[in-house]
Amino acid sequence: MSHLLFPAHPPIVAAIRDRDEGFPIRRIFCVGRNYEAHAREMGVAVDREAPFYFTKAAEHFVASGSTVAYPPGTSNYHYEIELVAAIGKAGFRIAQAEALDHVFGYACGLDMTRRDLQLAAREQRRPWDLGKDVEDSAVLSAIVPASAIGHPHRGQIELRLNGDTRQSSDLSMLIHAVPAVVTHLSRYYHLQPGDLIYTGTPDGVGPVVAGDRIEGSIEGVGTIALTLGQPE
Ligand code: MN
Repeated sequence: MSHLLFPAHPPIVAAIRDRDEGFPIRRIFCVGRNYEAHAREMGVAVDREAPFYFTKAAEHFVASGSTVAYPPGTSNYHYEIELVAAIGKAGFRIAQAEALDHVFGYACGLDMTRRDLQLAAREQRRPWDLGKDVEDSAVLSAIVPASAIGHPHRGQIELRLNGDTRQSSDLSMLIHAVPAVVTHLSRYYHLQPGDLIYTGTPDGVGPVVAGDRIEGSIEGVGTIALTLGQPE
């Protein structure tokens, strides 16, 4: 073929703190129920044996600091703050001892969720896509290289809604920490540079409305912010 029917989509690129280079996003994997207290508030048991995943399209990436429209099809849109691991080196069937060699860096993420549709799907044993694979729902701060901050194993993770603290936990409470997740996920996928892993949210999730301002922070990693605009 000689040319494209329409222009190819431009790469989707996250910022890297203190660098001129961008981080082209490939895939977005999200871990479910990775903090005990969050699983409890969702009314479900945790699986300590193995993590489970859902995905979001890379097109749903939104840079921290953005304003996004309140999404269609929901009346219960929730925030979830999460540590995000950014893969920088390809790997398949990665040994746990080598897992962190594949992590370029870390960011703060918001896994924005149509909770009403997610729970309805869960109830009906249907896929979670309408609840989770939401346009503008993969919010991400600048990525900080592990070469600058190391690999965070503990540290406060916190979210404030209009200035009030709603989520507050510690990365040490993760059921499946980053090395275990990278190892497990790489049994099923050939991980590639540009893949992101949202590692799950602590308890305290809740709804937003148009006009709300979300701010979050992860100790040693950075901060994130999102403003909800009027629905389209
Ligand atoms: Mn989540």
